[in-house]
Order: sequence, then structure tokens, then C-alpha cells
Amino acid sequence: MATITLDSLRKEFDNGRIVAVDDLSVGVEDGEFITVVGPSGCGKSTTLRMVAGLESPTSGHIRIGDEDVTDQHARKRDVAMVFQNYALYPHKTVMENMAFGLRMSTDLSKEERRERVRETAQMMGIEDLLDDKPDELSGGQKQRVALGRAIVREPDVFLFDEPLSNLDAKLRTTMRTEIQRLQNEFGITSLYVTHDQEEAMTMGDRIVILKDGKLQQVGRPKDVYENP
Ligand code: ADP
Ligand code: ADP
Repeated sequence: MATITLDSLRKEFDNGRIVAVDDLSVGVEDGEFITVVGPSGCGKSTTLRMVAGLESPTSGHIRIGDEDVTDQHARKRDVAMVFQNYALYPHKTVMENMAFGLRMSTDLSKEERRERVRETAQMMGIEDLLDDKPDELSGGQKQRVALGRAIVREPDVFLFDEPLSNLDAKLRTTMRTEIQRLQNEFGITSLYVTHDQEEAMTMGDRIVILKDGKLQQVGRPKDVYENP
């Protein structure tokens, strides 16, 4: 059971001169896919980075399931993050990139890890790329590998930071469908950040709209769309 609860979350930078996230309270239900949308600088990335444990809140609390993870190290959280720039290790093969996250989070043997990577790669249609290095891959292939690396860990929570913004329009549509298929199949609780309103509307079970670090609106796409 993985819910995400943000409770009066606040993040200041520069000794309070910048308030990136301002009193944000949102609950994500188990298996729910929530998109977070708003203009550049409204606090989307900072919010996501706090849930991932890459940034500490100035005040407020983050819970995953029943556990308060506010002060917990990123490595201890059962979350997988997919970034806009893929964040693959350039000197490692696809197999090594995908297996690396498993080494951190499980106690499988090396052969078991490789077997799990092969299964996931097959499911994602990237089994022929396992021996390649990232710079031999197209943008779409890299993002597929980044997704695969997250999926193979079977995390409780998925965090997406504009994962499709570097792809062309056609590939964006393909990957959107792919992410939705994985979401339906595994029912992973997800927070998905995008500046693309159409993407947010199409993909989200619910949408969180941020403005200047504050929650402006939260609701189902239809309700948000009808009351802008
Ligand atoms: P978004 O993801 O919506 O574009 P961000 O969360 O990246 O917004 O940024 C929110 C605000 O916080 C912006 O004003 C940004 O400049 C500021 N900010 C983000 N990270 C830092 C940081 N490390 N130091 C100072 N200011 C930051
Ligand atoms: P994004 O909105 O996709 O996160 P940004 O360019 O806003 O992209 O942020 C990239 C990195 O720079 C992040 O780690 C963020 O924390 C940091 N950052 C953003 N704004 C500032 C700022 N005003 N001062 C210092 N660091 C910042």
C-alpha cells in the first residue's frame, strides 16, 4: 500500500528570499497517477525532489504509506525517479545501468539481478539494447531504458520529472501510451511533473495545478478543465 501524503510542505532557498513551495498539502491515493502542472518556476521539480529525498523541506511533512519519510535518506525510500535528461551512466551498458538500481535496493544475487533485468527489458522491447552504451541509443531508446531501470526495481512510488520533454511529438505520444500501460499493469502510485497542460490532462487521474509554489487547484481533468 503506497499512498503519498504532503502535509503543509514548504521549501525556502537563499535564507527565505525564495519560497519555492508554499504550504502545499496533497494526498495521492494508492495506485493513483497524479500529474503536477504549472509554469516554469512554480515549484514542480522542488516538490518532486523533496518526495524523492533529494531536497529537505524547510517545514512540513512527507509520508509514504504510514511512514513519515521527511527526514529519511533518499536511498531508504522505495521510490524510483525518471528524469528529463535520462540520467544514465554513460560508461555502463544498458544491462549495467538497469541492474545498478537493483544492487542498491535488493539482496538478489548477480545472476538473479541480470535475469530480472532481462525480463523487464523484454517487456519494454529493449532486450536487443542490453549490451549497448547510452550514447549508442536514440533519445526514445534512452528514455525507454530509464523507464526500464525504474520499473525493474518494482518500487512503491514512481516520480517523473518531465520525462518526455526531450522527445519529438510522435515519440512523446508513443511513450505516453507506454507509461500508461505500465501504470495500468502495475498500479504504481505516481507523481508526474510536466509543464505541458495537455499532457497533464490526458495522463492524470487527477491534476495538481501549482502557481508560485502554492496549490491552485486539484481535481479530475474534467473538473479542472471546466473550472479553470
Ligand atoms: P519548476 O520545476 O516548476 O520549474 P522549481 O521547483 O525548479 O520550479 O523552482 C521553483 C523556484 O525555486 C524557482 O524560483 C527556482 O528558481 C527556485 N529554486 C529551485 N531550486 C533552487 C536552488 N537550489 N536554489 C535557489 N533557488 C532554487
Ligand atoms: P527544472 O525546472 O527542470 O528542475 P531548473 O533549471 O529549474 O530545471 O533546475 C535545475 C537545477 O538547478 C535544480 O537542481 C534546481 O534545484 C537548481 N536551481 C534552479 N533554480 C535555481 C536558482 N535560482 N539558484 C540555484 N539553483 C537553482
